[in-house]
Amino acid sequence: MLKTPAYAATSASAGLAPFSIERREPGAHEVLIDILYCGVCHSDVHQVRDEWGGSIFPMVPGHEIVGRVSKAGVEAGKFKVGNIVGVGCFVDSCRQCGACNAGEEQFCDHGMSATYNSYERNGVDYDRSRPTYGGYSTRITVDEKYVLRIPAGIALERAAPLLCAGITTYSPLRRFGVKAGSKVAVVGLGGLGHMGVKLAKAMGAEVAVLSHSPGKREDALRLGADDFVATRKKQAFKDHANRFDLILDTVSAQHDYNAYLGLLRLDGTMVLVGMPEPTPLAAGVLIMRRRRLAGSLIGGIRETQEMLDFCAAHGVASDVEVIDIGEINEAYERMLKGDVRYRFVIDIASLRAD
Ligand code: NAP
Ligand code: ZN
Ligand code: ZN
Repeated sequence: MLKTPAYAATSASAGLAPFSIERREPGAHEVLIDILYCGVCHSDVHQVRDEWGGSIFPMVPGHEIVGRVSKAGVEAGKFKVGNIVGVGCFVDSCRQCGACNAGEEQFCDHGMSATYNSYERNGVDYDRSRPTYGGYSTRITVDEKYVLRIPAGIALERAAPLLCAGITTYSPLRRFGVKAGSKVAVVGLGGLGHMGVKLAKAMGAEVAVLSHSPGKREDALRLGADDFVATRKKQAFKDHANRFDLILDTVSAQHDYNAYLGLLRLDGTMVLVGMPEPTPLAAGVLIMRRRRLAGSLIGGIRETQEMLDFCAAHGVASDVEVIDIGEINEAYERMLKGDVRYRFVIDIASLRAD
């Protein structure tokens, strides 16, 4: 086993602190990755604070990992030592069910092995004696089937957030048919939201940002949005009623879904990717214009690779604020205030030096 420096939360109220974990030597089909950068997702905050319930402690978060292969198993053929690679939100799945066979491992019938706050597996089932630990650490061992190729031309710190924020917004934009001229609204300009804007624009859509932070107007337009709607004033919901084909809702805190649904045109769809506390829903707003409410969860390995290649082809990458690992607790506080421009990314060199 390889003793590996990390940062972990030991309980829901503890915050993150230095911690030591063990990584395994790569098996035949596995690669050992020296982690270079790890993005900070709001899901890290939800899980460290046990806001979704069932959190497994100690927890080493981090599922937006970019690094370099330092060792490859004897049967590994997809990657070799020196390759720049990524690991996203999961590191394994059952490999047998319909979802896994369809390349949508995130919906595995037996549960994916999430990159952290989950378990490695023994064949189809979880091995509950082996928790997974994420990217707030200096290295990780993963089956190469669950590893992505980072295309040349994207700065590595700007590529890391694509592994979650990128795929989580790319997948529903594609699935719900965004194309040239589609009228898309992105609700919440944070890590996911800013990627939603960039990707929808790259697909040719007309994009509006709906934000409860009026100060983000300039940034929204700079990121490529065609319009900015400040949502603190109720009038905004009257002025923009029946306007959008697709609303991508990335908000992490509770808000009134009914008000946003009223902004959809006939047959329009609102896709939830943000996961706040349960929120009441009125049927009328859906019924009256045959509107749809949907959800979406990250994306499979194949689609994640497609997204990375799309980003390289279209010059899309995340706008990041690179931090040292010692600044992580402060970064969480800033995320909770909506003060992130637009993704924190940990320079893992700071953990090696710690
Ligand atoms: P983030 O960077 O913190 O951004 C969330 C944004 O939501 C904020 O920047 C803010 O934008 C808006 N917001 C925050 N509090 C609000 C409030 N009280 N009312 C209205 N808007 C508010 O978070 P993120 O990393 O993008 O993640 C967003 C959510 O997606 C989280 O719940 C996360 O767990 C979830 N997520 C889901 C998936 C999936 O597969 N479905 C994957 C990753 C993350 P404005 O200031 O512009 O209003
Ligand atoms: Zn995430
Ligand atoms: Zn499966």
